[in-house]
Amino acid sequence: MTHLLNADLHCHSVVSDGTLTPEVLAQRAKANGVELWSLTDHDEIGGQDRAIAAAQAAGLPYLTGAEISVTFAGVTVHIVGLGFDHTDPALVEGLRQTRGGREQRAREMSDDLARVGIPGVYEGALKYVGNPELISRSHFARYLVEIGVCQETNEVFRKYITEGKPGFVPHRWATLRNAVGWITGAGGVAVIAHPGRYPFTANEEYALFSEFKALGGRGVEVVTGAHGPADYVKYADYCHEFDLVASRGSDFHSPEESHTDLGQLPDLPGKVTPVWALLADRVHG
Ligand code: AMP
Ligand code: MN
Ligand code: MN
Ligand code: MN
Repeated sequence: MTHLLNADLHCHSVVSDGTLTPEVLAQRAKANGVELWSLTDHDEIGGQDRAIAAAQAAGLPYLTGAEISVTFAGVTVHIVGLGFDHTDPALVEGLRQTRGGREQRAREMSDDLARVGIPGVYEGALKYVGNPELISRSHFARYLVEIGVCQETNEVFRKYITEGKPGFVPHRWATLRNAVGWITGAGGVAVIAHPGRYPFTANEEYALFSEFKALGGRGVEVVTGAHGPADYVKYADYCHEFDLVASRGSDFHSPEESHTDLGQLPDLPGKVTPVWALLADRVHG
């Protein structure tokens, strides 16, 4: 598999907080010229069999995937796993536990929004939820747009449901150690998702990369929908500093909401090793 492959190894379906089914995503990826695809639903692998089958039907090489929510230094960090055995019992159970607190968190988020005069958001958000175990802030955002509190979901994340804003409820996710352990224990490669998005100081970011590497993590997203050109350069340098491979993925959620469509990303910078170089024997199809 070449360095310049149009790989899209990060996106979401209705099994988490995307708006398209795994089947429609597979067809969209193929139509957009994607050459290697992974569906990486949040804390959930319930869509993997559908994605494998749909990718096969579309003639699209596929890697299993998930995006695990982790709490590191008090901040939510996302770790993408690629190419694992999605029937691995420890991975399945770990993800089930990670999903476990979402229902209660959502009720508390709704209570807090009611306090600022926006009632019934839990019930409203449920209309957008495709998987009862995976109620997400994205579903809240869609409902707040529906009722006209905000014009678009990005605005919701500026005014509500983020740190310091109404409707935000702090949550403890998986540990970095467990998330990396579940992925690698199931034969996959762990990747730090969209590192440019975290509110870390330089020291905290260094600690994240060092600890991730020490725990067996092997990759970092260099080209993602959340990064700009300066991030591509910075995290390509980190690949060398920390001896990591580079991943590439749109983080596509929805045609209406996502700025970056499946496969519509710049190539990886020339000097990095792509994550798919480690995963040739894990590709379906
Ligand atoms: P949760 O896992 O329930 O905390 O929800 C996190 C999800 O909210 C992310 O995966 C994104 O899909 C979405 N999200 C977070 N921040 C933003 C933002 N600033 N703009 C749009 N979507 C966001
Ligand atoms: Mn999401
Ligand atoms: Mn993420
Ligand atoms: Mn994502």
